[in-house]
Amino acid sequence: MKQIMVETRLLFLRKHTLLVLILMFFSLWSFSQRQMESYGSWNCYQKKIHEKPFLQQKSLNSPKHSFDVLKYTLNLNLYNCYTTPYPHSFSGTVTIRFRVDTALNIILLNAVNSSIVIDSVSIAGISFLHTGDILTVTLDRTYNAGEIAEVMIAYHHLNVYDSFFTGGGIAFTDCEPEGARDWFPCWDKPSDKALLDFTAKVPDNVLLASNGRLQDSIHIADTIYYHWISRDPVATYLTVITSKVGYNLDILYWPMLSSPTTLVPIRYYYNAGEDPTPSESIILDMTDFYSNKFCEHPFEKNGFATLDAQFIWGGMENQTLISFCPDCWDEYLTAHEFAHQWFGDMITCGTWSDIWLNEGFATYIEALWSEHAYSYYQYKSDIDYYANYYLSHNPGWAIVNPNWAITTPPQNELFNYAVTYCKGACVLHMFRYTVGDSLFFASLKEYAGDTTNFKYKSAVIPDFVSKINQVCGQNLEWYFNEWLSQPNHPVYHNEYNIANIGGGNWTVNFLANQVQTNTGFFKMPIELLINFSGGSDTVVKVMNSQNNEIFSFTFNKQPINLIFDPDNQIVLKQASTVLGFNNNNILSSSIILYQNNPNPFTGKTTIGLELPSSDKVRIMIYNDFAQPVAEVFNGQMNRGKHEVEIDAKNLAPGIYYYSLETSSEKKMRKMVILK
Ligand SMILES: [Zn+2]
Repeated sequence: MKQIMVETRLLFLRKHTLLVLILMFFSLWSFSQRQMESYGSWNCYQKKIHEKPFLQQKSLNSPKHSFDVLKYTLNLNLYNCYTTPYPHSFSGTVTIRFRVDTALNIILLNAVNSSIVIDSVSIAGISFLHTGDILTVTLDRTYNAGEIAEVMIAYHHLNVYDSFFTGGGIAFTDCEPEGARDWFPCWDKPSDKALLDFTAKVPDNVLLASNGRLQDSIHIADTIYYHWISRDPVATYLTVITSKVGYNLDILYWPMLSSPTTLVPIRYYYNAGEDPTPSESIILDMTDFYSNKFCEHPFEKNGFATLDAQFIWGGMENQTLISFCPDCWDEYLTAHEFAHQWFGDMITCGTWSDIWLNEGFATYIEALWSEHAYSYYQYKSDIDYYANYYLSHNPGWAIVNPNWAITTPPQNELFNYAVTYCKGACVLHMFRYTVGDSLFFASLKEYAGDTTNFKYKSAVIPDFVSKINQVCGQNLEWYFNEWLSQPNHPVYHNEYNIANIGGGNWTVNFLANQVQTNTGFFKMPIELLINFSGGSDTVVKVMNSQNNEIFSFTFNKQPINLIFDPDNQIVLKQASTVLGFNNNNILSSSIILYQNNPNPFTGKTTIGLELPSSDKVRIMIYNDFAQPVAEVFNGQMNRGKHEVEIDAKNLAPGIYYYSLETSSEKKMRKMVILK
């Protein structure tokens, strides 16, 4: 993991060198490519797929929810966890305050019975049944909708390996997606966020941190009682305990933008021998940047803590206390996990099928950090990296799988790096390209700042899309449907031609053609760069809303070639674009009537024609006095190129005209019949 640091520092120098080169040569084509290990998203992903491989998948049938948890009050005695043999066992109570949604006399909770043993229930709880990971608590009476009740559960945690880790004087938890139920009974789904009040008894050489603010720490003899309170609701998977004998602690203070005299503490817990400077040196600027781009930093404190070798992969975005692997004080890991404080923590994915709202956003925001700290070219290099990773590792499923809302998938699916992270980030990049910077950043701001629907709550993707439609003043469902719900990506086999149409004018015809068979059509705005003889160029942007769509552009100078998507904005694609003068697919937007061949002629000649769409067609021959003398064809013809033979054996030698007439156009040419 130290390698990450070295690479990142070298990269830092390289970026600045490159920036100078770019300024000197205005080169758009070369910029630094970060190493994979320096992507915070990669480390976030590594952590999520590598954790707890020994654990079985949890219950597929989450409890039916007929109540809303308002607050968890936890009191844990962790005193023995910090001394050899570092047991995982502890005892405690959790008091669960909940509001009843539909009348009930029992509540169902999650508590893994191989980890947690229930000792008793009290207050409104009178008895319990604990089977598998479901704890059923029977209440003292029926509670009606709207009533608020409390159940206290006394329990002890067994000396087993699960989401509660101990060893060598450290004790910590790591929960996403379903680990909270290993160490306290709770309703363990991301949609039910609750306040948290956490007290822990530990030896007085232990520093212990959790979500929210440190309310007090009471020192009695050789014992400290740490009391942490979260002002804002927390999803169970984002709850955390981080504690260690001999932690180092730095506290930085971020002045709120709206109230500069209010200082928000950002706490850095780090192991002996580590240097958190790479993260500490950017965190205040990053907090400003994210606050300006999304909404003001939403929590009463924030923080980071490095753990031990039981947590060697990357980071975890626990609310207001991010976990890092040992000595992982990396700029981009900081950028990624800190972005989750807004997208993931402040607004939490409503179900696991909405994971894009967490990981797509945090991964994209890493690139936004690149743009802020370095340059747009570094941003685009990051996006291109994500796109290339996706294109070479695409497992073929869509970002959104509706089943994941019900059945939590295996972690290597839920946290698939190519799809959930890389493709997810690219979908946001292409959304920015589609609606433009102004609407894109307004969308992020309005979504993050929506206190009625999203802020401090959970979000599902359809609600997010409704919000975006409202902000952008247009229906963008098509965009999110195709990129989030369809698997794979477009494969373009485009063609174009250039025609001299006389009078000093040229026409460029472009056929936008997608050939993929493993997914549907992708509507997208497309950019075309047209180069002219003499060195000038122009870019046109058109909306390609159906397959095999043809676009025609007329110029009063000579085009020499066309480049599709010149800035590679549609990053999730494969594409080829060829000059196709003689290709049957290339058609003008209007009918074309070619000169007959041979001409002049004796006996038979052939005329060529092209139709941009199927139509009723009439082909006539007129004499030199404009009188009709023969009807060659009268009927329906398909879109495309056609050839029609004219047999002139009944016509006298002379000058004639032939016409092509459709429902909307008519064209005519001259021909000469010889003896
Ligand atoms: Zn992440």
